[in-house]
Amino acid sequence: MKIKEIFLAKKFINFKHSYGISSANFTGESFLILKLVAEDGTFGLADNVTAIPFGYEDVDTMIHIIQNHLFPAICGMDSFDIEAIEIKMGKVTPGHPMAKAAIDIALYDLNGKSLDVPVYQLLGGKCRSHIQLSGAVGISDTERMVGEAYELIQQGCESIKIKIGTDPKTDLRRIKAIRNKIGSSPRLYVDGNQGCNLTEYLRVFQEMQDYDLAFIEQPLPTWDISGYKKLCATLETPIMIDEGVYTPNDLMTLIKHQAVDAVNVKILKTGLTGGKKIVAIAESAGLLCHLGSMFETGIGTAASVHFAASTPAISQTSECFFPTILEEDVVEGNIYSTMPKSWAWGVPENSGLGAFLKPDIDTLLNNMNEKKNNV
Ligand SMILES: [Mg+2]
Repeated sequence: MKIKEIFLAKKFINFKHSYGISSANFTGESFLILKLVAEDGTFGLADNVTAIPFGYEDVDTMIHIIQNHLFPAICGMDSFDIEAIEIKMGKVTPGHPMAKAAIDIALYDLNGKSLDVPVYQLLGGKCRSHIQLSGAVGISDTERMVGEAYELIQQGCESIKIKIGTDPKTDLRRIKAIRNKIGSSPRLYVDGNQGCNLTEYLRVFQEMQDYDLAFIEQPLPTWDISGYKKLCATLETPIMIDEGVYTPNDLMTLIKHQAVDAVNVKILKTGLTGGKKIVAIAESAGLLCHLGSMFETGIGTAASVHFAASTPAISQTSECFFPTILEEDVVEGNIYSTMPKSWAWGVPENSGLGAFLKPDIDTLLNNMNEKKNNV
């Protein structure tokens, strides 16, 4: 299928409640919606999201790099030549992984629709029919955080991520309070989003191990590889890297330095092609693999579910819950917009990703392209 045209739109979506991490408090976010069209009219969808302040790209940088650099380089190529397209995009720029990931996801949707098969069949086939989800509690006041964690457990969620990274002693008190409230059986892990300092937090992390943490995720800045090596050597709790892994090379660097125990794969960071390569490296190195959320609409969530369904090494729970906290989604139907039963998503069986755009989002894509062509 020759790639012919691309449509890009930016849409801000409010969240149902605020979501705090160590560097920001989000009440909504800008999303990229992408539609890649082949010469016969078959199209593939993808989304992505502003990752600043914890990442490097926002929706405007992605639109700029796709419109002016990536799409012109791959226009006319065969949508099934995914590895050749990856090489081509790599030659355009070594950076902008999220812009590249959006194109990669859209290619799989397009190719799945073209062959009339679900995307998981293009990724190695289905090894599970449901994806078990993990919930998350953002940073707020301790009472609200304990209440949110308890509410998740009441809803049937068995794994919870707690955001930390603003103050070591407060974080320790919160983890103790949450573990005491939810009991010993739910899986609990913490995510610092690079907000922790090794000197201040090392002792606190040692004490936090008393509360049976499954992971400590990206506590230190991504550049502090020696800090991660020290944490891996000192703590029994696995150290999971998220923002530090966008590419297979990122993960190899950490492995060579013995600075990683687990990897949080996010399809909006890596694409489906890059995600598979990262998991293959992680699996070979004996690391744990977890599937995370970057903030996705129903499109990115569908891509993540197809990925988890076809990737046995994603042995830990997945964070594909994000559509449940969006005020509105860009896809039709309620499979992703209502709370999943028992905190598990079923795997979509329609062709492609199985995500269908709402008509007003399609109009938005057409209008933004008209505007671009008239400038
Ligand atoms: Mg994270």
